[in-house]
Amino acid sequence: MNPSDIEFDRRHIWHPYTSMTHPLPTYPVVSAAGVELVLSDGRKLIDGMSSWWAAIHGYHHPVLNQAVKSQLDKMSHVMFGGITHPPAVELCKQLVAMTPAPLECVFLADSGSAAVEVALKMALQYWQAKGETRQRFLTLRHGYHGDTFGAMSVCDPDNSMHNLYKGYLPNHLFADAPQCQFGDEWQPEDIDSFKRLLLQYHAEIAAVVLEPIVQGAGGMRIYHPEYLRQVRRLCDEYQILLIADEIATGFGRTGKLFACEHAQIEPDILCLGKALTGGYMTLSATLTTRHVAEIISQGEAGCFMHGPTFMGNPLACAVASASLKLLSDSPWQQPIQSIEAQLKAELRPLKSHHAVADVRILGAIGVVEMKRPVDVASLQRHFVQQGVWIRPFGRLIYLMPPYIIQPEQLSKLTHAIADSMG
Ligand code: PMP
Repeated sequence: MNPSDIEFDRRHIWHPYTSMTHPLPTYPVVSAAGVELVLSDGRKLIDGMSSWWAAIHGYHHPVLNQAVKSQLDKMSHVMFGGITHPPAVELCKQLVAMTPAPLECVFLADSGSAAVEVALKMALQYWQAKGETRQRFLTLRHGYHGDTFGAMSVCDPDNSMHNLYKGYLPNHLFADAPQCQFGDEWQPEDIDSFKRLLLQYHAEIAAVVLEPIVQGAGGMRIYHPEYLRQVRRLCDEYQILLIADEIATGFGRTGKLFACEHAQIEPDILCLGKALTGGYMTLSATLTTRHVAEIISQGEAGCFMHGPTFMGNPLACAVASASLKLLSDSPWQQPIQSIEAQLKAELRPLKSHHAVADVRILGAIGVVEMKRPVDVASLQRHFVQQGVWIRPFGRLIYLMPPYIIQPEQLSKLTHAIADSMG
């Protein structure tokens, strides 16, 4: 890319969470293959981010490329109202088969945030159809569920978005985030705050919504499965729906196909996205039980009130189908176990560094939490000079590489992090 295009980008194009007057630098990527991003000056960077949890099989994958090309020759898009098509049916068959048995009704939406909106609306319509007014959601501090209004309203209330949009956001309930980490001994008082809120407000609560086991963008926290088990038990006891947002954790990332499996629980509503298409296109899915779907369908509207223009986009469904098949047909647990072992060996020693607050690892996720916020621009420059792509935020430097990463490539990522600390 020539310098004038970079300047145009700087002047005219918003990037995620970036100032228009003092934007952070952007790096021009012109192609990507395997686990490498190729910059316009020819430099290659080993990708530690999987494009935000999505590109689990790596880039330019021959099977995924072929799935898009074959579908393109047949039909790129057609409306989903009154029409169905093989890519959607094939994808939903796979989703129904691979998720817990009670989840059998699939809503296809366009992004993770939309999947969360759909889940929240399902819960609201469910109670409306039952003739009860329940309009509050119970969730966890340090949660993250997306940037649209409904999703934002159940994100951590203290990380500024709630302050910015005060007055527009409904007043939901926030339990203290779990303190007991995955692998620690379970402390029964960890669930107290959640339990208190549930006991006090259960008659107003439509659903509990949370990220199972790993809280992602709200702090990269990895919590004890017993917390999740107790949440499920309490939801059952008070007959409240449980929405699991597995948009980040789904499809193997935590070492299980879905993070709920760590606690052997099943949600009533499940949100999927990100890795669903192997990172090729935006697509999400919200699954629910026959029971919830039937109650919603018996309500005043007689249907579920959502229907995006690009619902069930055939190109996205075709590549998602191919991606899920790649995953199911491969011994995916093995590479994730190897990545986990290597992250433990190479990142855990950083825990003793004076600037490091904590190191957390689960499956193909490695998190180094610093004591102070990092300087993103200079750290990123350092990483690019070292030939790796790592995007830190706040106090967090973290890795979630494509599952196909090789040991020497992963070492390059972990060494770049260790190096940055001097
Ligand atoms: N839920 C979780 C757990 C997420 O990590 C994200 C994205 N970071 C979302 C929802 C929102 O997804 P999207 O960015 O595709 O709208």
